[in-house]
Amino acid sequence: MQVINPATEQVIQELTEDNATTLQQKLTQLQQGQITWAAKPLSERIEIVLKFAALLEENREELASILSSEVGKPLQQSRNEINGARARIQWLCENATTYLKEEIMSDGSGMQEKIVYEPLGVICNISAWNYPYLVGTNVFVPALLAGNAVMYKPSEYASLTGLSIAKYFHLAGVPVDVFQIAIGAGSVGANLLEMPFNGYYFTGSYQTGQKIYTKVAPKMVPVQCELGGKDPLYITDEVQDIAGIAAGTADGAFYNNGQSCCSVERIYVHEKVYDAYVAEFVKEVKSWKMGAPTEDGVYLGPLSRKAQISVLEQQVKQALDLGASVLTGGKAVAGTGYYFEPTVLVNVNHQMDVMKEESFGPIIGIQKVKDDVEAIALMKDTAYGLTSSVYSVNENRANQILAQMDSGTAYWNCCDRVSAALPWSGRKHSGFGATLSHQGIRAFTKTKSYHLRQP
Ligand code: NAD
Repeated sequence: MQVINPATEQVIQELTEDNATTLQQKLTQLQQGQITWAAKPLSERIEIVLKFAALLEENREELASILSSEVGKPLQQSRNEINGARARIQWLCENATTYLKEEIMSDGSGMQEKIVYEPLGVICNISAWNYPYLVGTNVFVPALLAGNAVMYKPSEYASLTGLSIAKYFHLAGVPVDVFQIAIGAGSVGANLLEMPFNGYYFTGSYQTGQKIYTKVAPKMVPVQCELGGKDPLYITDEVQDIAGIAAGTADGAFYNNGQSCCSVERIYVHEKVYDAYVAEFVKEVKSWKMGAPTEDGVYLGPLSRKAQISVLEQQVKQALDLGASVLTGGKAVAGTGYYFEPTVLVNVNHQMDVMKEESFGPIIGIQKVKDDVEAIALMKDTAYGLTSSVYSVNENRANQILAQMDSGTAYWNCCDRVSAALPWSGRKHSGFGATLSHQGIRAFTKTKSYHLRQP
């Protein structure tokens, strides 16, 4: 398997993919290693995972440079991601004891009732490339803390980062037979679905999530799917600081080249502030520097995957054919590397894929609305349900709108953010199950209910 640098289109490394035999060997090792790992006191597992976080910090420059070389994100954004992962690991470690300890629910009249959180066994994590440290951490860290062994399949577009993660886990003290990595593309993922894991935790597209869920269903083991989104954002007429809001929301749409599951993917703006907002938004987008991920001050690097360029081209073309206008950008950049100009489309509507299908790239449609009723109807017109965002000085108004959204996350005067303390979960085609928070720690356990009568 070739690892290609999306900025230079050069092959930077060749890796050997796993196959059914190597995967089976790894699973057998994990099944044995898990028993000893689960028998360790939680405090020891926490210490080892914290050591892993410290190693990420010590080796951040090397790790950021590997990540940028294979996914094309600007170096500073790679550093930010590693810092973000460390903060999440810290939260998970600080809270693991509280949420994994047994709970006495009632105790009296000679009968005690309690819940014990047991590890699932060996879990399989099939992951995405866009934030390998963050989406990986959401799964493998709480899984390890809860006493599971992990087969981690990084995306084929983030394999070098996956190998680095495995290296530093092992250096931190996670035994080799407790954390294993599966190298390869979709066919290797498909192989993993044939094997008897005790839980499947997937981050990726709706299309792959659907295949995984269908395939794993007969096993009757836990499955979680964190999938894509078409996240709406609404700017009401009650906003102040339009320039600041335009800059913040443009970042929410274009950070990491729009390749975030919770990127702002479509914007609705009240007609009273529409012109001012759009002007400031375009000004912000035009101020960004695009270039090699290693160059200082670059905000937009290449896309990670070449195939996404044609998806974006098609969305732009269809929108223009149906009456949209481009205010900036609109096409791939000629030359080496998978670069696409940051693109702002207006005069858009819901006949266009750019307002309905996940773009996962640096393009955004901005639609004018006359009131909240129209904005709510448009925001709800989606198969997805990851996040929804409202900007207004009026909290009641924002809450009333957000309460009507069928999404796992609701933002008031912010967007494109994740908190370790809150469940990260999708609805509808954005998936199901939660990572992070107390739910995301317990997601890697099975409960046993004890009814204990004193003789
Ligand atoms: P993808 O679905 O193409 O691939 C994800 C993983 O699945 C990869 O490791 C891939 O090798 C594997 N895979 C592919 N086909 C498979 C099969 N048939 N069986 C088993 N495994 C298979 O997604 P991607 O391009 O890596 O990631 C982008 C998508 O992920 C976007 O839709 C994005 O919104 C979503 N995402 C969601 C979240 C979230 O938290 N909700 C986070 C990050 C990314």
